[in-house]
Amino acid sequence: MIPMVNLKAQYADVKDEIEQGIAETIANCSFILGPNVQAFEKETAEYLGVKHAIGCASGTDALHLALEAEGITDGDEVITSAFTFIATAEAIKYVGATPVFVDIDERTFNITAEKIEKAITPKTKAVMPVHLFGQPVDLSAIKALCDQHNLKLIEDCAQSFGARINGVQTGAIGHASGFSFFPSKNLGAFGDGGLVVTNSDKTAKMLKMLRNHGSDVRYYHDVIGYNSRLDDIQAVVLRAKLKRIDQYNRQRRHAAHLYSELMADLPLTTPYEDGIGDHVYHQYTLLCDRRDQVMQALQDKQIGCAVYYPVPLHQQNVFKQECAGLSLPVTESVAARCFSLPICPSLEDETIKEIVAVIRAVLTK
Ligand SMILES: *Cc1c(COP(=O)(O)O)cnc(C)c1O
Repeated sequence: MIPMVNLKAQYADVKDEIEQGIAETIANCSFILGPNVQAFEKETAEYLGVKHAIGCASGTDALHLALEAEGITDGDEVITSAFTFIATAEAIKYVGATPVFVDIDERTFNITAEKIEKAITPKTKAVMPVHLFGQPVDLSAIKALCDQHNLKLIEDCAQSFGARINGVQTGAIGHASGFSFFPSKNLGAFGDGGLVVTNSDKTAKMLKMLRNHGSDVRYYHDVIGYNSRLDDIQAVVLRAKLKRIDQYNRQRRHAAHLYSELMADLPLTTPYEDGIGDHVYHQYTLLCDRRDQVMQALQDKQIGCAVYYPVPLHQQNVFKQECAGLSLPVTESVAARCFSLPICPSLEDETIKEIVAVIRAVLTK
């Protein structure tokens, strides 16, 4: 059996460091927002090249808190992608705003400045691009558009920890950006966790209050906040993996490049790289007209494969009514043809060859 992600293999390498750190946290009983959270916030801010990093309970919360701290509220419109995980749009709904879905680029699977510009109305207050599958969105044109129209730029970096574009980390350009540490993400905790980053002192101050019951000084509450903190035990895990994240992402890129090289002659579309950004391959996602046939063959051999995402958000039951009549042809076409193959830092070349052989047999029959 070949799983989509092999979390066990990744653990071997960091086991001692993590077990020792967790034992210390237990001995100190510093469970919530403890010394490891503070250290992790400092280390990630440095790594990502941002002024502030604020831990919170999940990636979904990170996006929600980022929008709220930037003042996005009832009646506002936020332009985003429909080809993403539901949490992107949920966060927009949580602050009372409306997600406005625009179509994606067929090569990168990400939204573009051109499509965003056409969707701007007087109600638009923010743009939320998603660095989907670890493919960094080139934000230069989008940032300029946001500045021109006075819109907040909120990056969904849940799948892109460590991805750079022109040497700049995803998350460092937006007014506020959210990361997820769900266990299978590129930087994964042993449970839920998230992070918001920003270069604004004012936003950082609000984020720290929002994640902790609206409180700056204990038992004094300035705003209605949330219980959304990062556990010290999770911070221990994240600190150990943060030291190795560039290596993990290099291993992912190596695996992806081998897949693409071995499948170059097959009738499918391998992931696009523009040469400017470092795609970190949270997923290795292909397009193929005979997707269902290929996936069946892989499943028969107990090889993991999955469709991220089979139903774009504007066609989900929860948004169907609100988005009635909205047509996003590229998004819909990609959702009908995409599928993802196993990828993780520990994936071996031999395994990749084995997987490709199964795909080759189907497509050259
Ligand atoms: C995982 C993910 C989230 C949500 O993160 P959680 O930590 O699971 O709450 C948000 N957006 C995208 C694109 C994701 O992949």
